[in-house]
Amino acid sequence: MVTNISILGSTGSVGKNALRVVEALGDEYRVTALSANSSVEELAEQVRRYKPQVVAVTDVSSADRFRDLSGDLDVEVLSGPDGLIEIAALTEVDVVLTAVVGAAGLASALAAARRGKRLAIANKEPLVIAGQLLTKAAREHGATILPVDSEHSAVFQAMQAGRTEEVRRIILTGSGGPLREAAVEDLHAVTLEQALSHPVWDMGPKITIDSATMMNKALEIIEARWLFDVPVEKIDVLVHPESIVHSLVEFVDGSVIAQLGEPDMCLPIQYALTYPQRVAGISKHLRLQEIGQLSFEKPNTETFRALSLAYDVGRTGGTAAAVFNAANEAAVEEFLAGRIKFVTILEVIENCLNKHNVKTDVSLEELLVADSWARREVKDSLERRAGGVRL
Ligand code: MG
Repeated sequence: MVTNISILGSTGSVGKNALRVVEALGDEYRVTALSANSSVEELAEQVRRYKPQVVAVTDVSSADRFRDLSGDLDVEVLSGPDGLIEIAALTEVDVVLTAVVGAAGLASALAAARRGKRLAIANKEPLVIAGQLLTKAAREHGATILPVDSEHSAVFQAMQAGRTEEVRRIILTGSGGPLREAAVEDLHAVTLEQALSHPVWDMGPKITIDSATMMNKALEIIEARWLFDVPVEKIDVLVHPESIVHSLVEFVDGSVIAQLGEPDMCLPIQYALTYPQRVAGISKHLRLQEIGQLSFEKPNTETFRALSLAYDVGRTGGTAAAVFNAANEAAVEEFLAGRIKFVTILEVIENCLNKHNVKTDVSLEELLVADSWARREVKDSLERRAGGVRL
């Protein structure tokens, strides 16, 4: 039987890896739909190679450009955010892999869940912002949510060893990022260059900064809370610089089940596509004898304030996580543009959370309102702070 796959965000790093994985899996897996925001040249190349039936281009003027570029190709072209929702809900599609940031990504993930699809989630926003809505929709419509984030894929795999009610705690590992050894007072002097030099994973600038603040791990705590239906108190973070143990689950009897592998996104992508089967793929095989030692340490929660905030946000629920995520995005943007210091990132996130009136039991629209409020609040607060001179 052929598995038909929609890849939402196929020109990003996860999307490109997903296409390599699908290609290596052979004829039983077929790319049915692809989407891009504006990288239409690359999308056209992908269409030539993978021959999907339909593509969605979310940026409307880029969609026109794509039509010009792809006149010779036999593919249906949809444009705008609705196109993304459409390819997430196509009847013939079995698996929707979503790696699209922002509001368009949320609506399409929700649409896939409501159509009972297998939903492979690569970016954090759907679960962080709309975890409650999304998991509820999946339960009601028989959809399966499979994590592609490496830590959550590891937890998902370890979970196969027991039942949810037998879990004592989930232990998310993190490399600790470039500032692992920094004391809280060192953070004032951190430069953009230092924050951008990640020791293990080669990723985009936003996620690399999130790794330096450990905001990445903070968001993963919230992601895990919804994916595995456990309270945040049962989720721990362990710093593991080698990034070989991708996460662990401790069961009530004291058994700890971990998933190990080379740091390579292709493995969690493939597992989400082939689950419950395991097949040989393109990921490098682990040779522990070459690594020799694995080390673990407690994260310094004074340096990494983001972690403590995540527990508060996770307990609060409702719109709090949407604000947490959006305030971080806005603050990181300011930092990457050289307009604020590294330490200011967490300060503005915390101030934003303190000012926010949390709403519970909310719709996607209300979550997006909270998201925009937080972005505006970060900008306004930075302007108020120093009348333009923010450093
Ligand atoms: Mg991760």
